[in-house]
Amino acid sequence: MSTRSILIAGNWKMNMGPNDTADFFEQLDAESQKQIDGVIAAVCPPFVSLATAFDSRKSASAVKIGAQNVHFEDNGAFTGEISTSMLTEVGCDYVILGHSERREYFGEDDAIINKKVKKALLAGITPIVCVGEVLDERKQNRHFDVVKTQTAGSLEGLSASELEKVVIAYEPVWAIGTGETASPEQAQEMHAFIRDELAKLFGKEAADTVLILYGGSMKPANAGELLQKPDVDGGLIGGASLKPADFAKLVAIAA
Ligand code: PEP
Repeated sequence: MSTRSILIAGNWKMNMGPNDTADFFEQLDAESQKQIDGVIAAVCPPFVSLATAFDSRKSASAVKIGAQNVHFEDNGAFTGEISTSMLTEVGCDYVILGHSERREYFGEDDAIINKKVKKALLAGITPIVCVGEVLDERKQNRHFDVVKTQTAGSLEGLSASELEKVVIAYEPVWAIGTGETASPEQAQEMHAFIRDELAKLFGKEAADTVLILYGGSMKPANAGELLQKPDVDGGLIGGASLKPADFAKLVAIAA
């Protein structure tokens, strides 16, 4: 029986400006924002909504707040970018790194993601590092190789104790925003594979502490069976995390 916590993290993507963010916390009842033993709830709004998220949480809310990206330099001439110190200044606990949309549309590769992971760790922010294959790679039976390369590349140079502060999200790209979910068995198979790879690279003790989330059309209707799998330690959730009622249900299912 694993002693790992469950993390339910919402990735709001380019949705939810400050007004919608305030409404979300207004509608998310206080009960759902309470600390539940063994469960961590988090949402990752766009940068401009972070301050509103902190201000709008109910008092004593246990919902953590994260960002969806960060730059790997400290400051300077990087127009449009945000640094880790800016994220810590507003109070972010998490940052999503290497999401497939960042890889596909913004040219992020494992080397860039690796620099960001290291920078986040230095700042005390927990990186949620996304890995996952596209449909063709799965059809060609290359999904394990792809995920192995992404995992090793994104985490290169970390110590075992640093790894323990990282969260991995396995997000098969064919399941993101498509309504198609990996089966619980497919998710478990890949999560166990990732944990084995982490054990080879960083040792079993560290690998056993790492939270590995599943992401890809997770919603209240399918979360229960996914979260029952021994190596599925939570979810990174896009669409279903935008609705307070669904987010609350997901947190309740994880409890
Ligand atoms: C995501 O983008 O991280 C994600 C899992 O999205 P969705 O839940 O909408 O598939």
